[in-house]
Amino acid sequence: MKIAPVSEELFQRAQQSIPGGVNSPVRAFRAVGGNPRFMVSAKGPYLYDEDGNRYMELINSWGPMILGHAAEIVQEAVQKAIPNSLSFGAPTRKEIEIAELIVDMVPSIEKVRMVNSGTEATMSAVRVARGFTGRNKMIKFEGCYHGHGDSFLIAAGSGAITLGVPDSPGVTQGVAADTLTAPFNDLEAVKLLVEANKDQVAALILEPVAGNMGLVLPEPGFLQGLRDLCTKEGIVLIFDEVMTGFRLAPGGAQQLYGVTPDMTTLGKIIGGGMPVGAYGGKKEIMNFVAPAGPVYQAGTLSGNPIAMSAGMAMLQYLQSHPEVYTNLEHTTAKMVAGMRQNMQGLGMNYTINHIGSMFSIFFTEQPVTNFDSAKTSDTAMFGRYFNSMLQRGIYLAPSQYESLFVSTAITDELVEEYIKTSREALQEAV
Ligand code: PLP
Repeated sequence: MKIAPVSEELFQRAQQSIPGGVNSPVRAFRAVGGNPRFMVSAKGPYLYDEDGNRYMELINSWGPMILGHAAEIVQEAVQKAIPNSLSFGAPTRKEIEIAELIVDMVPSIEKVRMVNSGTEATMSAVRVARGFTGRNKMIKFEGCYHGHGDSFLIAAGSGAITLGVPDSPGVTQGVAADTLTAPFNDLEAVKLLVEANKDQVAALILEPVAGNMGLVLPEPGFLQGLRDLCTKEGIVLIFDEVMTGFRLAPGGAQQLYGVTPDMTTLGKIIGGGMPVGAYGGKKEIMNFVAPAGPVYQAGTLSGNPIAMSAGMAMLQYLQSHPEVYTNLEHTTAKMVAGMRQNMQGLGMNYTINHIGSMFSIFFTEQPVTNFDSAKTSDTAMFGRYFNSMLQRGIYLAPSQYESLFVSTAITDELVEEYIKTSREALQEAV
């Protein structure tokens, strides 16, 4: 049983000086109840909190730590870079090297711009798509998250052909009116939106494999259908691969599914744990970015030498070790198979979505193919399961609407531990 009085005290204190006590909302555990754990260190598959508890974890800092925590190759690259200065604000050789590597790895990217987060990457990509097409509107999918840029914080309207309404105070109606939303996996709804907004849609952005409504896979033909539609209508197709880039394959979901977008946004793994994002795509589009072209986008710390060193070490490793992906897939498949057995054994309603090293367990018997079906999951049940796992030393994503990420640090022994602990936690939660 993990008790955490120090974390509890720190959470009380944090709320005095930090909104909600955290620097990113989901860390506060509001969706699952209870107190967040305050971490002090991490190594391999484990997180260690202020109370001295150890947790085996399946979030990997929300994705970046695909090789587990404190991976030596990344740590060494950072240590080597530090004495040369933490920031230059001038170009470096390392920025060319990482750009060349990304161009080599990601099928859609011919030119790339480094930024500091996934949010910056998506905001910038859509701006460039608008500049390139001279159009204003954007289509996104219900349940897809693209960071906290104003134009992405738009809830779905009641039907496919409604204008978006702001999802957060502070996002203006004006911005919302330019964001159109459709249900994920619904190609017909997208066609209707495009038809109703003929020659006005600059960009269609999606997570090709959605991880932000829990894991939801694209149905056969969906990605290719979007590709064909965008080509026909002159719309810039943007794959937001902040989560899936370098995770599902060295070239991301686009490589796995064989569908090439016009632009791609990246984050998470690309920085090896440092704050890095990137956006890139076809040369003719990326040449619109300043100073090559008229669309402004900049960053004091963009291409930061420490962050580039970490990212470079991570990407080089992944490129030269393709077995990482088969191994991760193998490990994850075993975890998923064990969970199916657990849930069948307990006679529970469940759906598990799974691809590569990502998976989500939904407490519903419905297939989960979009945000509406994801929302049929019993989130109270999820909360009980989550807390039961936490008490037993396994740290999951603290929300039903997230994917789990498996790292290479998860051994066969840990797979067994996860399955056994889950069985106990589920028994307690039902
Ligand atoms: N896009 C996707 C698909 C994401 O999952 C995220 C973050 O989780 C973002 C964009 C935003 O990235 P960041 O949190 O680095 O701003």
